[in-house]
Amino acid sequence: MTEKMYESLNRASSLLTEKGLEPHTARILMEFITQKTGAAFLVDLREPLSEEQHKAFWDKTGELLEGKPVQYVIGQEYFYGHRFEVNEHVLIPRPETEELVYEAIKRSQKIFDHKAIKVADIGTGSGAIGVSFKKEWPEAIVTATDISDQSLNVAKHNAAALGAEIRFLQGDLAAPIMQEKWDVVLSNPPYIAHDEAEQMADTVLNHEPHHALFADEDGLYFYRKLAKTLPPIMNKPALIGVEIGYLQGLAVHKLFAEAFPEAVIETVKDINGKDRMIFCETCV
Ligand code: SAM
Ligand code: GLN
Repeated sequence: MTEKMYESLNRASSLLTEKGLEPHTARILMEFITQKTGAAFLVDLREPLSEEQHKAFWDKTGELLEGKPVQYVIGQEYFYGHRFEVNEHVLIPRPETEELVYEAIKRSQKIFDHKAIKVADIGTGSGAIGVSFKKEWPEAIVTATDISDQSLNVAKHNAAALGAEIRFLQGDLAAPIMQEKWDVVLSNPPYIAHDEAEQMADTVLNHEPHHALFADEDGLYFYRKLAKTLPPIMNKPALIGVEIGYLQGLAVHKLFAEAFPEAVIETVKDINGKDRMIFCETCV
């Protein structure tokens, strides 16, 4: 006889807590293993796990106890209501980035009088931004890029699984899209300064790809390069939206104000009240 669901869950949560890890991940894992959530999950809490479920739960709890993020352990994360497969080649998409997509769509609806807008997602990772935009705005013609072929493979898989038609291009920042004009360019580039590594959680630092996290020049390298390369390829009107680190608002605002002297530049806070996005709206 295996443990009851709640017994495994409580034991795993305690082990995680003892190691200074997030105990709630045990519940996410249990929901994944049993494929049950909400009331169905509660109803079954006092039932024994099958041998198979018990083994799978404890094998994967071993990975959690090594500090692996639960999203990599179960191979998925939800973003903008869609299930994205993730592995250690891509950043786990974050809730802050859902806000970037939401704010970008809201602004685009006001700016563009046609629906077939051309949208680029630079540094697409799992495909989160590009795919979610396309699902919300099916007429948009979406291109997504990344420097990493391994990331692009994950993004392509997610686009296909979610039925989003997207063109994928490999290359350095705007290089692969320089031959065309764009209505909307979105990016969540790496923006963590190298000397911030010591304050980061081990689950992030030891498991997420560093090419997705860190940037030179105090984390500003990619914004500097985008501000320099984007002006000639933006349509009029156009919208640029980038996610930023919460201390980078002033610096990134300035970079885009210099690159687009006639644009309206806005620093937008996330739901935690931290500077998190810069939008640059170029006028007709
Ligand atoms: N867009 C995804 C998201 O929001 O979840 C991933 C964002 S992650 C912070 C940054 C992404 O930029 C990574 O996928 C990384 O591979 C990619 N990247 C890093 N350097 C790049 C470069 N020079 N050109 C294009 N993409 C790059
Ligand atoms: N928000 C991510 C983190 O704090 C960083 C993402 C990025 O660098 N674009 O881990």
